[in-house]
Amino acid sequence: MNTDPSLNALRDEYREFCDLRGALSLLQWDEQTYMPPRGCDARARQIAALTSILHERLISPRYDELLEKAHARESELSDDERAFLRELEFDRDRERKLPAELVRELALEQSRAFASWQVAKRDRDFPKFAPHLTRLLELSRQKADCYGWEGTPWNALVPDFERGMTADRITRIFMPLREATVALLDQIRGAKPIDAGFLDQPWDVARQRELGLRIAADLGFDFESGRQDVSTHPFTSGIAHGDCRFTTRFAERGLMDALGSTTHETGHALYDQGCRVEDDGTPLAGAPSYGVHESQSRFWEVYVGKSRAFWAHYLPIARQSFPGQLSEIGVERLYRAINRVVPGLIRIEADEVTYNLHIIIRFEIELLLLEGKLPIADLPAEWNRRYREYLGVQVPNDGQGCLQDVHWSLASFSYFPSYTFGNMYAAMLVEKMEHDIPGLWEAVEGGEFSVPLGWLRTHIHRVGRRMLPLELIEHVCGIPVSADALIRHLNEKYGEIYLV
Ligand code: ZN
Repeated sequence: MNTDPSLNALRDEYREFCDLRGALSLLQWDEQTYMPPRGCDARARQIAALTSILHERLISPRYDELLEKAHARESELSDDERAFLRELEFDRDRERKLPAELVRELALEQSRAFASWQVAKRDRDFPKFAPHLTRLLELSRQKADCYGWEGTPWNALVPDFERGMTADRITRIFMPLREATVALLDQIRGAKPIDAGFLDQPWDVARQRELGLRIAADLGFDFESGRQDVSTHPFTSGIAHGDCRFTTRFAERGLMDALGSTTHETGHALYDQGCRVEDDGTPLAGAPSYGVHESQSRFWEVYVGKSRAFWAHYLPIARQSFPGQLSEIGVERLYRAINRVVPGLIRIEADEVTYNLHIIIRFEIELLLLEGKLPIADLPAEWNRRYREYLGVQVPNDGQGCLQDVHWSLASFSYFPSYTFGNMYAAMLVEKMEHDIPGLWEAVEGGEFSVPLGWLRTHIHRVGRRMLPLELIEHVCGIPVSADALIRHLNEKYGEIYLV
């Protein structure tokens, strides 16, 4: 990159920080995959200890010295070097505002809350989790105060996930999306329902896994630099360059759920595997935001994995694994069944149309919680009321209600909107990709997934954190970020499926 001694010293410092962070990621990955339940307390301490070390590292005076020297030569720096300094300073400045004791306390409480949430969700017992949620909200409000905020404490937390966004701006973006979704849902409710009964039958789990692994490899996942495991909540963990792990979940009656989580997590993993090698160990590696990361998973899960072109390619292959279940099923019937719209209780099982309503509910409730306007004891009732109002469904218990998601147990308040941003960015990127690659869907039908992947590598993966999230999407797509492309996509796709 350069021969400047202060920049080289910064790179060395930061490389060690990344190595420690990778060790932390591995502990967290293990916590969610293989750790025995009684390992929980020791793991909470290990994670808290390592988090404290990372905090100390990032705010160490050594960085100040080196950054000062590097800035003294600002005019001689390349664009990449300037981006390196900007991103390092962003991370460091946020970290520096937090007292070490708060960082440790939050890490400890997160591990405890995560363990308690697992039990509470299983037992459908919100009061069991409530004291942990109360404590995490207190600590998160303290964190917001340390950062400083305007309007709502939520605004202080959102830069961890989506830089450049505020609650007001998100509300303005979400409003037309909500209106368009409700209108489309009304039309779909009046249309002839789609029969997807054939999906609800036993599918051999070993064969599901085999098919999923094949698809992940076909899409471009490099198994020499990663692996797949099983967890209740599928996730991807980029532990280091050359070690990217994703998980899938399996159920006998859940072929499409397993394939959906596989293509989704493969999308995240392809992003991690697509970063430039030379960015490894620098603040430029990775995504500029969670929303941009999610745009990649949603691209592969929804735009590719639920397209006619994808199934024209994979149906003959899937029939070899499941001849009894699929020999009579054609592409059109499968396409309509996997894109069936049914308002439901569970976010991660939601179809494309209702998905964003699940997010909008969480976003609105999070604001109330952080602002102290919703007592914790009233959370389940408020959750259930909004599900009735927005989606027309009755929540039978808190396990399928406000306890369904892991995020709040990890104090990830303000994370949820990134999912809808992922959907919005993906819709914008697909419009641009279709414009740039006229034969895109023919390539997908031919199993040439390197065509869309190559485009994403160039325009998104290899850019890393050189650009801020909104800047990146606007630069690639040439239009301002909004929900317009997503609304167009939903109306066109589901208009054709349901209303023609
Ligand atoms: Zn995701």
